[in-house]
Amino acid sequence: MEHTTDSALVVFSGGQDSATCLAWALSRFGRVETMGFDYGQRHAVELACRTEVLARLRALSPPWGTKLGPDTLLTLDAFQQLGETALTHDVEITMTASGLPSTFVPGRNLIFLTLAAAQAYRRGIKHIVTGVCETDFSGYPDCRDDTMKALQVAVNLGMQARLVIDTPLMWLTKAQTWGLAHDLGGQALVELILEHTHTCYQGSRGTRHAWGYGCGACPACELRAAGYAGYRERSASGG
Ligand code: ZN
Repeated sequence: MEHTTDSALVVFSGGQDSATCLAWALSRFGRVETMGFDYGQRHAVELACRTEVLARLRALSPPWGTKLGPDTLLTLDAFQQLGETALTHDVEITMTASGLPSTFVPGRNLIFLTLAAAQAYRRGIKHIVTGVCETDFSGYPDCRDDTMKALQVAVNLGMQARLVIDTPLMWLTKAQTWGLAHDLGGQALVELILEHTHTCYQGSRGTRHAWGYGCGACPACELRAAGYAGYRERSASGG
């Protein structure tokens, strides 16, 4: 099957990283589609943010709105059936004996990207874009560059295709990810991401901080807050 090189499928969760990746894809490709997963996240708020961010990105830039094609939301009950993690069940966020936080959902990104590849294959899309990152990350092994490269090889062998897994945030710090959003869509995009994306593991949107909504105490909030502070410092010093 011929895959249009000027097309991308963005794995889009409604969070800061995948929203930035979506803007990155919209600035580079002629046709962009999105895919998300309802995998029994404890907090449905993230899925509500997806729809909001998509609508606002269309409104922010008419050229982006024209490029932005259909969104697909897949339901995956399997992770909940497999067992407890702090993202799928009411379990405390702690460091586990394996050295990984209890928010780690084993196999999640492997399955997500395999399903995204299946969709890209069917839709004639060449590029799969994901917001995984090896810098500043929570230690998730399925976010590593080597994992993504191995997965690209595996799906291409298994589907007899030449798909490309793009990871624009792989080597960026969280502060640099804010900077990338600013480069792509100016202050308006930064504001959109601050206001409408969701990162907090607790699903909290009660309090608006300088860096957006969240409980302010979970590892995801801490990372987002520190990244935004770093970004503001760099912008203030003109760097
Ligand atoms: Zn939080």
